[in-house]
Amino acid sequence: MKDIESLHIEYHKINLTIRIKNDMKYIYKYLWGITTSIWLFLLCALIISGISTVEKKLSESIKDNERDVNQLLGIAIAYNLSAKEQMEYNIGLSKSNINHHPLTSRLKNFPDINSYGLSGDETIDGTPHESNLTGIGNLSDVDENTMLEINSALSLMLSAPLKQKGHDFLWSYYTSKSGFLLLSPQVGINDFHFEEYIYKKPFWSIATPTHNSQRETVISDPYDDAAGLGYIISISTPVYDKDNFKGVVSLDVGMQYIERVLKSETLGLKENLILVTRSGMVTAAQSDVVYDLSNHTGNSYKISKNDDGVYFLSNVIKDKFYILYDLPYSDFILLLIKNIYSQIIILSLFMLIVLLFVYLLNQYSKTKKIATIDGLSQIYNRATVELLSNKLFDLSFRSKGPISLVMIDIDHFKKLNDTYGHQAGDRAIKLVADTISTVIRKTDIVGRYGGEEFLVTVPDTDIDGAFMMAEKIQTAIESMDFESGIKITASLGCAEYDPSITGECFDSVCLKADEALYASKRNGRNRVTKSTNHEEKISYVT
Ligand code: GH3
Ligand code: MG
Ligand code: MG
Repeated sequence: MKDIESLHIEYHKINLTIRIKNDMKYIYKYLWGITTSIWLFLLCALIISGISTVEKKLSESIKDNERDVNQLLGIAIAYNLSAKEQMEYNIGLSKSNINHHPLTSRLKNFPDINSYGLSGDETIDGTPHESNLTGIGNLSDVDENTMLEINSALSLMLSAPLKQKGHDFLWSYYTSKSGFLLLSPQVGINDFHFEEYIYKKPFWSIATPTHNSQRETVISDPYDDAAGLGYIISISTPVYDKDNFKGVVSLDVGMQYIERVLKSETLGLKENLILVTRSGMVTAAQSDVVYDLSNHTGNSYKISKNDDGVYFLSNVIKDKFYILYDLPYSDFILLLIKNIYSQIIILSLFMLIVLLFVYLLNQYSKTKKIATIDGLSQIYNRATVELLSNKLFDLSFRSKGPISLVMIDIDHFKKLNDTYGHQAGDRAIKLVADTISTVIRKTDIVGRYGGEEFLVTVPDTDIDGAFMMAEKIQTAIESMDFESGIKITASLGCAEYDPSITGECFDSVCLKADEALYASKRNGRNRVTKSTNHEEKISYVT
């Protein structure tokens, strides 16, 4: 009993292997689609993650630039604060009558221009003075406090930031509420003198108590320099004598310098870096372009420009400026490709290998199918049915279980071919194969043995069982609904493996079944005959 069970199991394994191989073709068919879909999916994922990487890189690059620009502004602010401290200290000293600057006594009136001041070529102990002072009106009208303030201003070391190497600090100056201005570098009074309009300039208006009650160091919007030095921004710090607003120390930075700091960045996109003000105005050369910053929130973000196809990222500097990349989509895509092309190549190569593998498997499966399955009837071909039957005979021999063969041959097939054509004959072969397949058990094997001849191997079944099954096949073929009512019948012969016969094997049982089949033919066809070494039993069809 155990042997029979193991025979079944082994047989199933054989049959299953072949069935799986045939089913594989569907899997391969879908694998192409699946592989391509996975590739597309991964490609999309790669692009999406690439976009965020590029955005991150751009944002980091902008942060670097922000740091550089802030550093520059920080230096300017530090100079300013020190000048402010100096001025407030000097005012204190002047009040105590300790501080007397030598140039204070050299102030003169310039009535032609309604000014007082220094001519601008003064020297102290042979060294040229590095700044010049001019004021409105006549010296005789200048009150004592203003004189003290003038004395304090003249002692300021305003030229220090201008000597800073590599920095484009253009002007360093102290503007007094009392109508005078000390300017460094030194400019002759005929080229520049203080006038009322100066109080309208941004460097002044942003720092006065009205706009800067907190007394902070403030940064102006970029504006055109009166002396023709291009766009500048002023860093201004108010000077107080206790709660008394005295004036403003200022330092002007050329925008070109800030632009230079910006352009020293990496990523190879320096041409696209732009500094803009909060109002969206570009601060330097491209002042005709306006960016819409109205939706800005947070520190790192995208903004839009009026025309499409441009991509931006920006940060804020001192709540005053934005650095942004003005990137056409083409530049952005190039940057993206630079970042992900190696991954795309690796991914594509991997997918190509998978596809190649799938293709080879598919080819293998096709070849395997051609070698095992009969193309017309879609059941096993003779070689396979013989191979499998031999294995089953071996198993049966070991398990000592019965095994039988049923040989089937379509009757007068030549006539059918001649009458209805070869193609009708082909269709009949396919229909008979299908019919046999539906009658037999799953554990049986059916194959096309010859032209219109079929072999069924019936494991675990003796001659009587095989005979009963053969009768079922015979009846099923006879009742087939073939085209235009054409009647098809078949003659069958069955034989059982007999272990008592010396040399009994698949081939000898096949021969017995064949002989039985020819007995069916001789006896009038459309019937089943058992092999002659068993009791003769012929089933006649009524
Ligand atoms: P019998 O009842 O004695 O078996 O007569 P039969 O005509 O069926 O037998 P025979 O062996 O004389 O003829 C078999 C014919 O089957 C001959 C051949 O042309 C035909 N045949 C073999 N293979 C195919 C095939 O694949 N397609 C078609 N249409 N005919 C085939
Ligand atoms: Mg025939
Ligand atoms: Mg034949």
